[in-house]
Amino acid sequence: MKKKLRVMKFGGTSVGDAACIARVAQILKDAAKEGPVVAVVSAMSGVTNRLIEAAKRAEAGDGEHAHRIFEALRKQHDTALGSLIRDDEKRTWLSASLSKIFGEGEQLCKGTALLHELTPRTLDTISSLGERLSAPMVAGALQELGVPSEPVEATELIVTDSYHGGADPIRERTRERSQARLRPLLERGITPVATGFIGATESGVLTTLGRGGSDYSATILGAALDADEIVIWTDVDGVLTADPRLVKEARTIPEISYREATELAYFGAKVLHPKTLRAVEQAGIPVWIRNSFAPEHAGTKITPKGRSNGGGVKALTAIRDVALITIGGPGIVGLPDVVGRTFSTTAELKANVLLISQSSSQNDICFIVAAPDAKRTAAALRKEFAQDVAHEKVEHITLDPNIAIVAVVGENMRGTPGVAARTFSSVARENVNLIAIAQGSSESNISFVVSEKDMKAAVEAANREFGLGAPVSRESVVKVS
Ligand code: ADP
Ligand code: ASP
Ligand code: MG
Repeated sequence: MKKKLRVMKFGGTSVGDAACIARVAQILKDAAKEGPVVAVVSAMSGVTNRLIEAAKRAEAGDGEHAHRIFEALRKQHDTALGSLIRDDEKRTWLSASLSKIFGEGEQLCKGTALLHELTPRTLDTISSLGERLSAPMVAGALQELGVPSEPVEATELIVTDSYHGGADPIRERTRERSQARLRPLLERGITPVATGFIGATESGVLTTLGRGGSDYSATILGAALDADEIVIWTDVDGVLTADPRLVKEARTIPEISYREATELAYFGAKVLHPKTLRAVEQAGIPVWIRNSFAPEHAGTKITPKGRSNGGGVKALTAIRDVALITIGGPGIVGLPDVVGRTFSTTAELKANVLLISQSSSQNDICFIVAAPDAKRTAAALRKEFAQDVAHEKVEHITLDPNIAIVAVVGENMRGTPGVAARTFSSVARENVNLIAIAQGSSESNISFVVSEKDMKAAVEAANREFGLGAPVSRESVVKVS
């Protein structure tokens, strides 16, 4: 029987220090005994943030601060190497190759500080360094365990468009490159360790897939290689019914559909990058979310159709890095094309619109954008509607950053009457005021906007209402296949 090919991705906390990397190497060693594995790794936790901070400080002219960040990062990586690699010669060699990568980063920061300019392209190159550093370390740790392994930079594998900071793969080219580069390694029994998060344009310019994008790298490579399974190893026991930092009774969902998982990710469940499942939609490859700190747990299986839990609601999520923009006033009734003009403006800015709500009298259009897009979106709308404001057809364009979206997610909500009523009464019992409500026509999510200070209470109330924190029943536990 043909052995299963698996792609295994390890997030930042899973490769956070030498002990974590050693644990990852053991997981990979065990997996490699069963069949070929391609590893995909994130930067050590916190490293990408520090690199971006260095780049921004350099842009502000503070090259000294950027240099200090690099010193600290060098030390952190050298300490990890020191405990991971016993052989002196090999450690010195690895340390020298990491040093070269640090050198590239420092050069770029120096240039940035000199010019006081940080282009999206340079920012991508600086923020990619974390993955370029962690991949050789993980490959080195695997070799220590006697597993043949080789680090591979994903600039050789994933061909993307040139949208820096959030690039998308070009499927066919990625497939050709990945197969050509990785298949020969796998055939020789070598476990490749690819850098997550990054790709390159056809002409070789480095791009990143967006923050948290290593999950997406794993599914892109899984699809490109026709993998049988993708496993995303993280620091929690799978996709939980709510963010465990918000609801301590949250529990693991044994199986969830692509659509449900995507809705959760889109509305803030950080465990998965929102684009992750896009790459495997056509092939229908199962994606597991598992805990690298507790590999004995089965985790969550994400499949095209998922599995019904009978009750309709599967999970809750909340997102607070968002802002509410309202365009309103009695004069906008009858003003032609307000909606069209509003959303042409957001589209032009490539602003990420997460929720839209409009009252039937058209007195108010409100929508939510990601916080980084908020100010420039409001400014662009004020410009677009300047004439209408002057003629009092539009009364106000306001921006409220102190809000949060809470989303209730589950495929089976379709055809389960009363979910909305139960959601809103549970929230009302906590005296939480609803600012706006939206339900997509797919009916696999109901989302509502509350004041940021009410977010936790709203999530907890809905969590109790739908019994999502109750103990897992025996028959709903899935065994790892
Ligand atoms: P990684 O570094 O492995 O990519 P992330 O920090 O990006 O991990 O994502 C894992 C985190 O996502 C968890 O530690 C958890 O706090 C958060 N999270 C938010 N919502 C959920 C959810 N519904 N289920 C599981 N984890 C969640
Ligand atoms: N290291 C990148 C980030 O912090 C990508 C990832 O971890 O998924 O955003
Ligand atoms: Mg992540």
